[in-house]
Amino acid sequence: MAKMKNCPMCGKIFVPLGTAKYCPDCQDKMREKEAEVVNYVRDNPKCKVSELIEATGASESMIKRLIREGRFEQVGVQMSYPCEKCGKPIFTGKFCSECMESMRKEVQAQTAKFAAASQAAKPAAGGRGGGMYTKKFEDK
Ligand SMILES: [Zn+2]
Ligand SMILES: [Zn+2]
Repeated sequence: MAKMKNCPMCGKIFVPLGTAKYCPDCQDKMREKEAEVVNYVRDNPKCKVSELIEATGASESMIKRLIREGRFEQVGVQMSYPCEKCGKPIFTGKFCSECMESMRKEVQAQTAKFAAASQAAKPAAGGRGGGMYTKKFEDK
């Protein structure tokens, strides 16, 4: 028996085909909306994401997905969207290169701190060895 699903868009019960998340009606509507968004960008290559949302009524997540899928590049437009950390316009990924760099440094600092902490825990063993050497020296 096929599994029934509730469409998260309209609430209608449907039998999902493959990985379909929405009912066929909503899938169609979404494809239409995507085409509308892509057409708008093609006609207004300099438009911003916020403008696009206002003009087409598309959701930000849909636009981001279209950017990631390269749908705007297909019509010759490189669409930018804001970095999730500082809001600077970016073309790929979630963050701008500066935020990526500062996050990478942060991770590095964290790793260094962790390494230093585990180094600090070690000398107990090394210290005992050192003690033995000291004793040998004293025996002479
Ligand atoms: Zn639906
Ligand atoms: Zn940034």
